[in-house]
Amino acid sequence: MTAELLGPLRHPAHRFTLGDAEVTTILDGTIPMGIRPPFLLDKDDEQIAAIATAANLPTDRLENNFIPTLVNTGSELVLFDTGCGHFRRNNGAGFLLERLADAGYAPGDIDVVALTHVHPDHIGGILEDGEIAFPNAQLMIGRREFDEWNSGANIPPQRAENREMFLKLIAPLAERFVFLEDGDRVASGVTAEAAFGHSIGQMMFRIESSGKQVLVWGDIANHFVFSVGNPDSPVGFDDDKDTAIATRRRVLDMCATDGLLIAGHHMPYPSVGYVERNGDAYRWTPAAYQLRL
Ligand SMILES: [Zn+2]
Repeated sequence: MTAELLGPLRHPAHRFTLGDAEVTTILDGTIPMGIRPPFLLDKDDEQIAAIATAANLPTDRLENNFIPTLVNTGSELVLFDTGCGHFRRNNGAGFLLERLADAGYAPGDIDVVALTHVHPDHIGGILEDGEIAFPNAQLMIGRREFDEWNSGANIPPQRAENREMFLKLIAPLAERFVFLEDGDRVASGVTAEAAFGHSIGQMMFRIESSGKQVLVWGDIANHFVFSVGNPDSPVGFDDDKDTAIATRRRVLDMCATDGLLIAGHHMPYPSVGYVERNGDAYRWTPAAYQLRL
């Protein structure tokens, strides 16, 4: 008897221990897309092919993945970003809610939902059937992020649809949100840090437990080779490109210098790893067994 071919297999939830806390990364979904745009806007086809080939990646397409992070601090359950929600459910993503159950949690267990920024793959899952998908959660967002998207004055034209989404999903919830400044406390051991540029008011979050840290860096880099390895290349997804590049440089340098563990929304699933210096750029190194010993 010949066994049936079953296709690729990947468990959508991944958990590790961080000090006295637990960190779970959940695959909201994946979408295939082209490389340029959005990445390597300053490179030609030949240069892109060389960069991709050197990393053993296809030269014409990439898999974008969306990976919210959930942290149990020991006293609160904090969800960072909400995935794509129903908007992309017929297109490979938006499965955070059902996969939360695979990870052992119910939506009502979540105490805090903290948003890095308001792009669709981060806010799309905040509502389910018109109701807040995490009914008991305190919602949090960077003050500047909320204010800029609410005003709209500095939001680039290619984000018009995204702004509509903000006005429909996030703006009406203003009274439910706590607005965060750089350095503000989110939960026990969890601090918000300014990471402006990719979205004008993007925030990232540092979690500390018993001397261990992880940085939930949102979209500091949107691809583990094309942006971590080419931090100065403008990215179509970055709303303020110059500020995004400066922030990417600053955060990559900090992560490499401090050996910081990172959970990145668009790093390769399970999206947990480190960056190391590679000449004038950086290299993504996925976490291995060091988190289990
Ligand atoms: Zn994103």
